[in-house]
Amino acid sequence: MKGSILTLNAGSSSLKIALFPPGDESPIVTGSAERIGGDCTLTIKDASGAFIAEYKGDAMRGATHETVLRKLIHILQQAGLAQNLVAIGHRVVHGGTDFVAPILVDDAALNQLVSLEPLAPLHQPHNLAGIRAARSAFPDVLQIACFDTAFHRNHPFVNDTFALPLTLYAEGIRRYGFHGLSYEYVTQKLAAIRPELHAGRVIICHLGNGASACAIRDGQSIASTMGFSALDGLPMGTRCGQLDPGVILYLLQQKKMNADAIADLLYNQSGLLGLSGLSNDMRVLEATDDPAAKAAIDYFVFRIRREIGGLAASLGGLDALIFCGGIGENSCLIRARVCDDMAWMGIAIDPQRNAAHETILSAPLSPVEVMMIPTQEDIVIARAANAMMEQVQAQRLRAIGGIPPL
Ligand code: AMP
Repeated sequence: MKGSILTLNAGSSSLKIALFPPGDESPIVTGSAERIGGDCTLTIKDASGAFIAEYKGDAMRGATHETVLRKLIHILQQAGLAQNLVAIGHRVVHGGTDFVAPILVDDAALNQLVSLEPLAPLHQPHNLAGIRAARSAFPDVLQIACFDTAFHRNHPFVNDTFALPLTLYAEGIRRYGFHGLSYEYVTQKLAAIRPELHAGRVIICHLGNGASACAIRDGQSIASTMGFSALDGLPMGTRCGQLDPGVILYLLQQKKMNADAIADLLYNQSGLLGLSGLSNDMRVLEATDDPAAKAAIDYFVFRIRREIGGLAASLGGLDALIFCGGIGENSCLIRARVCDDMAWMGIAIDPQRNAAHETILSAPLSPVEVMMIPTQEDIVIARAANAMMEQVQAQRLRAIGGIPPL
């Protein structure tokens, strides 16, 4: 049953795919759609990064996740790339308390995932729309769901709860944590390149349009800045990050905003965009002298430093600080400012290494190793899909009395 694996990552207004040949972690095709629902563009590239197809303009305006995915699948089929497809791995933002590892999606599992939609209303429905579209296009292909929450499911109670009545905890009002697939990739990479650090106390800062930080001990997440929803913790491109719940009461009771308007404010109008009044894109903010843009960057850096302090305290010290995500991987300014004057914590960054975006960013005698590890969530999904495929293959062989391959 060896064959290709497709990974699918459906965000609120974007969709990314990658097609992996059998036994290979380098995709032969990648595709991405941006601004779904609006001025949508869809690009598909081969392994060298050359365009296979590009769609934009009137034909794509207002396209939905479903139509974009169908188009992508059609292109793969037309190019003869989907013939050997045996498994599709899906990124699913919320696995609730039950899903602590990747699962094979069947009707029952899909229904259970639908029941989690209220916990992630802006992400989960799109993830599940991707699964439905993929199931109907490829009914004989294994569909595997990989969860952003799963990496954090072993948090100790104090990092899993809010100080609300315990009945609400039992109902599922907990600190789930997200970006788990990214943390899993970076943690696995660290185990491969620096096993002694992997066995120690690590903070990973995933800094992209979504941003969070995670405390990891011996490869296990013990605390995350994200909580019940993907709003908590660090400020993000358009999301507010940590917020006093009293602000929401004020918006509801005094300003008479309704729930939809507040959700739009917190998810789409806040963060770097809200503070700068200019853009959610760090490149734009870094390139301007606008005082509000400067203040937005100041707040972003302040919150990251504050969370690093808290996470290090929950770890009882720190051996490695790792940056990833679009900002963490590309912005030497943000990395330098986060690490500035942190010698008291054992963090000393080397300006040349930082400017050159090297893997090791710390100065030679820095007690804490500072690193940049580009994250690759689609590889974690492809690995999970491959493992599930082998498990299913072994079960089928056992069922017919065959011997599974070693
Ligand atoms: P992600 O969500 O991980 O894809 O990260 C996207 C964000 O990374 C963008 O919104 C940019 O703000 C940021 N980014 C990408 N490249 C750079 C760069 N060279 N310098 C600063 N920020 C960058």
